[in-house]
Amino acid sequence: MPVLLHDTMSREMRPLLPRRPDGVYGMYCCGPTVYGPAHIGNFRTFTIQDTLRRTLEVSGIHVRHVRNITDVDDKTIRGAQAAGKSLAEFTKGWTDKFHADCQALELLSPQVEPSAVAHIPQQITMIAALVARGHAYVAKDGSVYFKVCSCPDYGKLSHLDRSNLSTQTTNSAGEANDADEYERESAADFALWKSRKPEDGPNFWPSPWGEGRPGWHIECSAMSLEHLGATFDLHAGGVDLCFPHHENEIAQSECATGVKGFAAHWFHSAHLMVEGEKMSKSIGNLYTLDDLKAKGWSPMEVRWTLLSGHYRSPLNFTMKGLDDARSALGKLERGLDALLITAGFTRAEFLPPTTHETQTAWGRFRPAWEKLCDDLNVPGTFGEIFKTLANPATDVAAAREDISGLAKILYALGITPFAVKVEVAIPSNVRELAEKRWAAKQAKDFQGADSLRNQITAAGWTMLDRKDGYDLKPGA
Ligand code: AMP
Ligand code: ZN
Repeated sequence: MPVLLHDTMSREMRPLLPRRPDGVYGMYCCGPTVYGPAHIGNFRTFTIQDTLRRTLEVSGIHVRHVRNITDVDDKTIRGAQAAGKSLAEFTKGWTDKFHADCQALELLSPQVEPSAVAHIPQQITMIAALVARGHAYVAKDGSVYFKVCSCPDYGKLSHLDRSNLSTQTTNSAGEANDADEYERESAADFALWKSRKPEDGPNFWPSPWGEGRPGWHIECSAMSLEHLGATFDLHAGGVDLCFPHHENEIAQSECATGVKGFAAHWFHSAHLMVEGEKMSKSIGNLYTLDDLKAKGWSPMEVRWTLLSGHYRSPLNFTMKGLDDARSALGKLERGLDALLITAGFTRAEFLPPTTHETQTAWGRFRPAWEKLCDDLNVPGTFGEIFKTLANPATDVAAAREDISGLAKILYALGITPFAVKVEVAIPSNVRELAEKRWAAKQAKDFQGADSLRNQITAAGWTMLDRKDGYDLKPGA
């Protein structure tokens, strides 16, 4: 069964099938900017992309997954200078952290993870081709700009009205762009090469137009060309990247190579909000994986929560959602245990499938697989899994077939049952407050006990009373 997916460009549901003669499916994902820890919004996008890759693999397709590392831009340069480190040392630290978080969240490593800094010559070559073909011009200060009016179909991805194309000061998510405020001929033009500025410090490279550094958009055009060719199967990113980043990538790539159809399919995932609000450092709701681990949530529970909404709808990430994920994982494990008993298997015998299996046994989990193949409907897949698990398998053979189907679906989702749970250490001040409150309650000092409970809540913990003692749970 082919995997059907919504395509941003055609706005249609289209089957994902490799077009190359060798059958390899080329997938390019815009990767992280490594100037700090990735947040759970970034991980929503990367987890969805990972789930698509896994689903394609289970459907029998060999995927070549390329995800870049943005290790030179305003934020990385500023961060390195503030940390008193070289750009390379600074970005390596955050790249390592990103990899560790990816591993914890069961994100498969891409086959290629190119870095922008390691592809400066390729970016310069592409910019030179654009200048030579009349699609770019050199400003007085040595910066190079893409000439948007030279690209008649500019805007085709995000269906822009070209007559209104006067500025790119905000992106499609309504956020301010890193405005390239130099000597542009038109406000719509964007920087391909930025001439060296004093604030760049030692971070500049020689080029035919003088010292400087690449603009942001060109890196993905140059790296996708290098690692996947002038046209490839699928390009992915969060919805904020659709315009201008992806629009600019199309313009640069197609104008530089002369080959139309840069990416055959465009896959954009909607953003994550936290407790109904946009994530921001100032509100204090910008969570990293470490923040959630410190609150007692396991990466597997975080992954489940990140996948719990359809990728085309914004996801409201809440602590309640994490609680629901914990219950759902428990329910999944109990259902799977029952199947394993009927099948005569131990937990240790429940192994993830090898990918690209041609075996088509799904048992009763075929509807769950069908949901996943239908525009990556993960919530629908979860629903079908639980519907099926609610009824026991009839016999050993049926249970074994079910297990084979469920194992493939869980591999596609990147969900590992029976994963180790994270136990968080209870901070000593919280433990002390709890002891005092328990003593106050025993002494029937209910006012004192209430006030202590408020202090425990304020510290981010919940005290649950039992007859003979109490439990402490992270989360207020
Ligand atoms: P960045 O590190 O900012 O370059 O972003 C890496 C990826 O995360 C890109 O695909 C972004 O579109 C995506 N992204 C950024 N913020 C969010 C968010 N709040 N929710 C989902 N994806 C996001
Ligand atoms: Zn990109």
